[in-house]
Amino acid sequence: MNNRLADLLSRRPYLLADGATGSNLFEMGLVSGDAPELWTLDHPDRIRLLHQKFVDAGADLVLTNTFGGTRYRLKLHAAEQRVRELNRAAAQLARAVADASGREVLVAGCMGPTGEILEPLGPVSIVDARAAFAEQADALAEGGADVLWIETLSSTEEVEAAIEGAKITGLPVVSTLSFDTNGRTMMSVAPADLAQIARRHHLAACGSNCGVGPSELIASMLNLSAATDADMVLVAKANCGIPQYVDGAIRYDGTPELMARYVQLAVDSGARIIGGCCGTSPEHLAAMRKALDAYVPGPRPDAAMLEATLGQISTGARAQLSGNLDRAAGSASGAAPRVNRRRSKISSNP
Ligand SMILES: [Zn+2]
Repeated sequence: MNNRLADLLSRRPYLLADGATGSNLFEMGLVSGDAPELWTLDHPDRIRLLHQKFVDAGADLVLTNTFGGTRYRLKLHAAEQRVRELNRAAAQLARAVADASGREVLVAGCMGPTGEILEPLGPVSIVDARAAFAEQADALAEGGADVLWIETLSSTEEVEAAIEGAKITGLPVVSTLSFDTNGRTMMSVAPADLAQIARRHHLAACGSNCGVGPSELIASMLNLSAATDADMVLVAKANCGIPQYVDGAIRYDGTPELMARYVQLAVDSGARIIGGCCGTSPEHLAAMRKALDAYVPGPRPDAAMLEATLGQISTGARAQLSGNLDRAAGSASGAAPRVNRRRSKISSNP
């Protein structure tokens, strides 16, 4: 198998992934409630421009505009029959920008949550979810993706369905979860659980994306790196600051300086692929590239150093950092699935 990700990682200590898709598309005119994925065919120039800006800022890897590209998500926009068309076209757009860059840039076929609750808690069967992910993955591979990139998922059942669906392509598979509920995902999965999943499914890389803010994300990276095998490639993709609700919209107020510092702490916590999630603009990414290239790795940060540098972390993440993996440790909100929150969250695109 031609594994361009492993090949590039064998020659570079760190790779810079790109920044946000959703929040940058809102800046370009996307309206809340619209499906970003439809823009791939309705406004290909804008999607191409966003990829180009990230590549110009120094990204080594760009994610396709396909976060909501499963038939379950596209059905909300009456586009469930367009899975192949939209995913293939999105991969082709990113591929064209990557190949014209004059250097090595990888295309990661982005796969987000279905938005459904899977069995045994919900109505969608594992078999159906796996088939939906396989359908998406196959189209992304056909469009030229180098790797399949499963992100922002919360439940073990859905992550495993996505991984198994993605694997039918033979491409390397990366999976990152959103540890946004007191050190765990909202379905109560901890970084140590992801380490097991990565091992079981031979993932090319695993990590943490989105969530609460850079400090909490680094805490999840520390907890993940403590649980994974030493040769597991880790991915950090933090939001650009802590999300705040201002004037009817979610805003991210992280500065390029904050994101530059975050990149360095991501390196020190074990990440080898580092990027930004919601709110991360091409300007932020350029600062992150500079910080990454100039950085001489330092010691593994502890909780006190992390909080002094990037801000507070949750009690759940802190308990895990001190070696307490007990679900009851600081998991007041993390012990039970939070279906309502999940429902409201799934409309957001990182
Ligand atoms: Zn995000």
